[in-house]
This record gives sequence, structure tokens and C-alpha cells, in this order.
Amino acid sequence: MANRIPRVAVREQDPKVRATNFEEVCYGYNRDEAMLEASRCLHCKNPRCVNACPVNIQIPEFIAKVNEGDIEGAAAIIAADSSLPAVCGRVCPQETQCEGSCVLGVKGEPVAIGKLERFVADYMHLGDAAGSEAPVSASERPAIPLEGVQGMEKHDNAPANGVKVAVVGSGPAGLACASDLAKWGYDVTIFEALHKAGGVLEYGIPEFRLPKDKVLKHEIEEVKRLGVKIETDVIIGKTVTIDSLMDEEGFKAVFIGSGAGLPKFMNIPGENLCGVFSANEFLTRNNLMKAWREDYLTPIHAGKKVCVVGGGNVAMDAARTALRLGAEVHIIYRRTEAELPARKEEVHHAIEEGIIFDMLTNPVEVIGDEKGWVKSLKCIRMELGEPDESGRRSPVPVEGSEFEIETETVIMALGTSPNPMISRSTAGLETNRRGCLVADEKGATTRPGVFAGGDAVTGAATVILAMGAGRTAAKAIDDYIKAQS
Ligand code: FAD
Repeated sequence: MANRIPRVAVREQDPKVRATNFEEVCYGYNRDEAMLEASRCLHCKNPRCVNACPVNIQIPEFIAKVNEGDIEGAAAIIAADSSLPAVCGRVCPQETQCEGSCVLGVKGEPVAIGKLERFVADYMHLGDAAGSEAPVSASERPAIPLEGVQGMEKHDNAPANGVKVAVVGSGPAGLACASDLAKWGYDVTIFEALHKAGGVLEYGIPEFRLPKDKVLKHEIEEVKRLGVKIETDVIIGKTVTIDSLMDEEGFKAVFIGSGAGLPKFMNIPGENLCGVFSANEFLTRNNLMKAWREDYLTPIHAGKKVCVVGGGNVAMDAARTALRLGAEVHIIYRRTEAELPARKEEVHHAIEEGIIFDMLTNPVEVIGDEKGWVKSLKCIRMELGEPDESGRRSPVPVEGSEFEIETETVIMALGTSPNPMISRSTAGLETNRRGCLVADEKGATTRPGVFAGGDAVTGAATVILAMGAGRTAAKAIDDYIKAQS
């Protein structure tokens, strides 16, 4: 019986070793492990996993192909719905999506759908080295064919139609939207503010969860192979505006996938001291500017002790990065472990690596020394009261319970909102009270010809939702342009 086989465990780096390096934590499945795990799928008549996937990947079908050893076939099935499978296989919150709905999970362990997706994507460009414990150097990797089957799928673009579409931002929303439009023959240019493409995948999520050269670079190359042009170092709203792209440069439509990169702070005294970072800045300095690498001239000083305020994925990433830079790291969170919004796997990895969790604790002041550098964080103990509008019990301060934690660095990981630069510089583009662009379910904004999706519309969310929104908007752009001609 297929469901008697226990879930195939995935191999990971030893926590003590990985706490000192930036190599990927999880090795992933090799071919034999993937085929064994694939054999556990029950191929339900009404597969709940497909409905629970925001882009409705045909999960049982691709798993059946893996089970048969037809990895190319599995890749083609995934490619019909996802343009970033190696990324999503690594970072999607599967436990609340596909795996959370797997029937096997009711009494036991769900099929490892995410790890299987990752294996398929890795196999298509690493071959039998997928799932290997030894890092594969660039020179050892099989060359990616330039024509025919290119990694994930055959690129049979429709003939070029000469219609120009601009995409703002090269995160998952922008990449997915651009890929679909290029496949349908559009002349697509992505404008990216930073010097590298990828959005949060490049500058936010750390190397040890999402390797940049091994995984992300390859998926971005795939988008370029479709004919998408990527212009980096172009800030829409400063270097050039959406109005001028449409009125002077001949772009017939624009997709805004500019994300939610504006960090929130607590507005407590001392937040402007040296040594206080937003998680975005701290992670960008590490990932994009490679602060952790000795061969880069852009180091970062984390100090001996670091406090990270917050409990989401971003807080876990910042904490685990600071740990790898050699610090003792405390997560300061005002609720309990049960309410932590981060993915379970990330919390588990953080605990294994030695991150200290200070629960029911909230900062009230950052205290500095005479030179303006952080020396401690004043906190107050909290207790849980009545549930708030989100259904979670609200944290309430315990009067008189203030105490200080000595620390050299404080990292605020309290969420982000969209940067207002684009909405302020574009006529007719409405935002809601959270600063997010207003768009309908197809991605149409309040400005004709301008579409939007991903975190810029929803606020900080997930990679797969951003990707799905990019693809939905691509369809709406295609319909809009066809209706104009
Ligand atoms: P982004 O990825 O933010 O990309 C937007 C791009 O637009 C950026 O490259 C930005 O530079 C560019 N841009 C912005 N303004 C302009 C402008 N004016 N002109 C030109 N370019 C511009 N999600 C998960 O599913 N799983 C996870 O494990 C996970 N971990 C995360 C960890 C961190 C540290 C962070 C910050 C987020 C994480 N997320 C995770 C959330 C996920 O990464 C985002 O929801 C997703 O990247 C949003 O995609 P996007 O394309 O909308 O925006």
C-alpha cells in the first residue's frame, strides 16, 4: 500500500555546521528518494492539493511522472502553471497550502510536494547532481541547452507582435507577468531599480534558503531566454515615469510589480541610533551586497549580540543571518511560539541552529552609549489577553515588568508596505489606506493600461501569490491590448 511508506526524510546540513556557513541548509531529494516519495501519492479523484495551490499546479500528475522516473515529463506539467519551480519548491508555505490539504496528512504525514517540485526543477539543470550533498561548482554543472528543452519547458513563443509592454520590478510578480507576455509574442522590458534582478528572492531571502547562483540566476536566465529584456538601475518614478513610458516611449501597457519594500518601525525612542537596522536593510546588505563574503568590500557589523524584533519569515531570516555572522541572536516577540507567523520549518531550523526566543516580550526603548551606538534594548513583559480582530489573542503589557537586554544591534522585522514613489509620480493611480495600489481581481488599476500585482497590491504576502498575480495580469494585459487594436 502506497500510504504505508513513511515520508522520505530530506537530508540537511548539520545544524552546528550550517550555523557557521551560508551554504544551503536543505540538500533536497536525489532521484531515488524523489521516486520513493512520489510513490506515496494516493492520486485522489478530487485532489485537494491542486485547489490549495494558488496557481493550481497539477500536482498528482507531475508526481505520477516522477514516480515513473520521467522527470522531463514532470517538469513540463509544472511549467504549465509555474515559472519559478525551484524557488517555490524551496520557499512556499506548503504546510498551509498543498501539503496542508493532502489526505495523507489527516492521519500521518502529507506527501512532500514542495521537496518533489524542488527536485524536478533542480534535476532539469543539475541532472543527477540534484540532491547531492557536495556543492556543485558552476564548471561541473551540465550546460543548459540553448534551444529545445530549456530547463523547465520548451519555449515555443508566439511570433513577435511588436507591441511593447513595460514591467516595473523583477520580483516573482514581474518575472511571471513578463514570461507569459513574452511567450505570447510581446516585446517586454522589465525595469528594475536595483542592480540585480529577482526582487526579494535576490535581496531578501538569504543564500542558505535560496542559493542565488545555483537556483535564482538560472530561473532568471530562463525568463531572459524567452526574449524578456531586463534593465537594471532604473527607478520608475525617478529615472523615468510611467507616464513617459506610455506617452513618449511607446509602451502600450505597464505592469507594476514593485513589491512592498518600505519597512515599518515601532516609533519608540532610540530607533535612530547607530546599530538599529530594518530587516530589509540588514538582509539587503548581506544578500545583495554580499556582506558575508570576504571577497566583497561591503562588510556589515552585527556585533556579539543581536536582537531581532518580530516573528515572521523575515525575522527568522535576519536572525539566522546574524547568527552566521557570529552573533548570539535573540528573537524578541510579543506573543508566544504558537502565534509565530513564520513558516514552521524556518522556526524549527532557527531553534536547531541556536537562536534564542524571548517570547511575550516587547521593546519600549533602544538605549545608546555616549557615541550614539546601541548598547541595550529596554523591553517589557507581555501576557495574552482577549483575541483581536485577527482572531489572535492580543498581547498586553505587564505593568512594571521593564528590563534591559544588552545588545549591539537591533533589527526591526515588523512588516513592510509598498513604496509610494510610483503612486505619487503617476497620474490617476489610486492607493488604499495601507498604501497598496488599488487593482481589480484581474490586476487592472484605476489608470487605463496600467496593471499591478504581487506585494504592491496585497501588501507583504508570498512568492506564489505574487507569481499568480503576475500571470493573471498578463492575461488581462493581453485582453486589453487586443481590445485596443
Ligand atoms: P518583490 O519581490 O518585492 O519585487 C519587487 C521588485 O520591484 C524589487 O526588485 C524592487 O527593487 C523593484 N522596484 C520597487 N520599486 C521600483 C521602482 N520604483 N522602479 C523599479 N523597480 C522597482 N514568501 C514566501 O512565499 N516564502 C518565504 O519563505 C518568504 N520569505 C521571505 C523572506 C524575506 C526576508 C522577505 C522580505 C519576504 C519573504 N517572502 C516569502 C515574501 C515574498 O518574497 C514576497 O511576497 C514576494 O517576493 C513579492 O513579490 P513581488 O514581485 O510582488 O515583489
